[in-house]
Amino acid sequence: MSSENETTTPDPHCLFCRIVSGEIPAEVVATNDHAIAFRDLNPQAPVHVLVIPRRHAANAAETAAQGGTDALITLADKVAQQEGLDQGYRLVFNTGRDGGQVVFHTHLHLLGGRNMGWPPG
Ligand code: 5GP
Ligand code: ZN
Repeated sequence: MSSENETTTPDPHCLFCRIVSGEIPAEVVATNDHAIAFRDLNPQAPVHVLVIPRRHAANAAETAAQGGTDALITLADKVAQQEGLDQGYRLVFNTGRDGGQVVFHTHLHLLGGRNMGWPPG
């Protein structure tokens, strides 16, 4: 993990940076030093939580380059346990336009509580 301060370099125009700072409310379900988990506004499954790094990055690869993806996966699994997803869950990083990404602050979707189809749409 970079030594750069993760909480003092937000992008004021970024929706998820504004959730990290508390400026925009969200239903937070778990946090750790590097990440925050909150419920998706438009859930696609009985459990749909977004896990985001406190430090701004545009996508998962950028966060990985900063050494920040382990914290996202670890927190997602903690939320899955909290939510009782003992039959499994799906983790998704939409990346870029064709990947369906609309918010360009890294976010890991945690989906569960129903059987997930494959291939995804
Ligand atoms: P993407 O399509 O970029 O992978 O996912 C963005 C997600 O952010 C979508 O699932 C969308 O419902 C969610 N989202 C967008 N704006 C907000 C918001 O203000 N609050 C919360 N909690 N979720 C949001
Ligand atoms: Zn951001």
